[in-house]
Amino acid sequence: MVNSAVIDQHGAAPVFGLYINGEWRAAASGKSYENRNPARPDDLIGSFASGGTEDVDAAVSAAAEAFTAWSMSSPITRANILYKASEILASRVNEIGRELTREEGKTLKEGIGETSRAVQILRYYAGEAQQPTGEHYPSANPATLLYTVREPLGPCAIITPWNFPIAIPAWKIAPALAFGNTVVFKPATLTPLCAVRLTEALAEAGLPEGVLNLVTGSAGEVGDPLVNDERIIAISFTGSNEVGRQLKMSATARGAKVQLEMGGKNPAIVLADADLEHAVTNVINGAMMSTGQKCTATSRAIVDHRVADELSERLAQRIGALRVGDPQEEATQMGPLISAEAAKRVAGEIDRAKREGLTLLTKDGASTDLGDGYFVRPALFGGVAPDSRLAQEELFGPVLGVIPVDGLDEAIEVANNVRFGLSASLFTRDIGRALTFVRKIQAGVVHVNSETAGAEPQVPFGGYKGSSSYSREQGKAAREFFTQVKTVYLDPPPSA
Ligand code: ADP
Repeated sequence: MVNSAVIDQHGAAPVFGLYINGEWRAAASGKSYENRNPARPDDLIGSFASGGTEDVDAAVSAAAEAFTAWSMSSPITRANILYKASEILASRVNEIGRELTREEGKTLKEGIGETSRAVQILRYYAGEAQQPTGEHYPSANPATLLYTVREPLGPCAIITPWNFPIAIPAWKIAPALAFGNTVVFKPATLTPLCAVRLTEALAEAGLPEGVLNLVTGSAGEVGDPLVNDERIIAISFTGSNEVGRQLKMSATARGAKVQLEMGGKNPAIVLADADLEHAVTNVINGAMMSTGQKCTATSRAIVDHRVADELSERLAQRIGALRVGDPQEEATQMGPLISAEAAKRVAGEIDRAKREGLTLLTKDGASTDLGDGYFVRPALFGGVAPDSRLAQEELFGPVLGVIPVDGLDEAIEVANNVRFGLSASLFTRDIGRALTFVRKIQAGVVHVNSETAGAEPQVPFGGYKGSSSYSREQGKAAREFFTQVKTVYLDPPPSA
């Protein structure tokens, strides 16, 4: 038995284990895989256990075994553990934030910011665990005490992507645990270190063994057996549409409860009366922060034609001036893509758009002189047709298209004409237009005069159409997913 997440050492690089039934241990196969810094691939962060079927089985067994006691424990006990975990994480925010940047590639400000957000999420669910668990109803029989109580589901699988490697796991795991479920956590293959750090904080805070289990490894070796394990009652997934849809089919076929958060093709509409400088700043932040790798990133600027040229010019100037480079340096404004494959794919999309005749308004497009990291320079295309590939497909990189339109009605029509509906923004000074936009836009998260990205923990988060599965995460919505309702008719015994 090893009591530390580091179970071995390969030269200078630590080897991190799986966390199963309260123990850090090697994968049953004994195998591990390397995790490297996307800004400097020669920088080896560490090796991580390559979990497999046997490990998934052990993790699910532990979660199933731990469920009875955890589900019957007091919500106040669970709240105290989550709060303690938030304090442990808070004491390590800078260190973990830096590790996040090294592992994922977002800027230091974003890496530390995301870690602080995970702290806030744990704190929020410590509070949420202490909220009412049901409702009291009137009954046809006045003597009946008629009420509902929300109870936990059972062992849950939490399957997360690499783009928010600590915040997304926190916002799924914290409510799952707060409401009495046990968890098997399968993080993205590319960001296992953040998963280890979150698991360490929760374990140190006093979670009983088996309540949270971490299995790192590949989608095929870990994700598949986990999704198909009959003992897993519910699955919360964030990732690509292709994987999400497939996962939902196989999991619901065996009766599991499934929640999906997937892609977006999020519009920022800029009307002629908007404060253009404010709109430019927010469109760029929405499009380029995290190197455009957010499901809520702005990828379409839908702009009234009266201001389209001026806005495009200002966007091009400011996007062209973004400092792209090693995100571990304070001055860097945009880091690399997550992987060589992602950089190649996004650069290919930029080249393809150029070949298809779209006008690149930023200078050098995909080319970079930034060394071996997975860098792609941010790209802005002007005069983009609403039905073009660039305006329809989620590219998941620093690529923005300006689509000129004639007024709000056309803007909303164009904005809605995609298969996604996660988030949307409008920039205007006109309250009437803002209200029309809020009513007509098909999106789960709607902003007026702020960027498309951003999700506070106390409100529901999720998308319309292909972006989601009609369930919501975070806020009070999380309780709906991670619990089921028991209706109780409590009558007094007949009086003697
Ligand atoms: P992303 O590129 O954003 O990571 P993916 O959809 O590829 O999106 O992956 C999201 C998460 O789902 C990752 O943890 C990944 O390993 C996992 N995953 C991918 N394919 C499967 C699958 N078939 N079954 C279960 N999990 C999977």
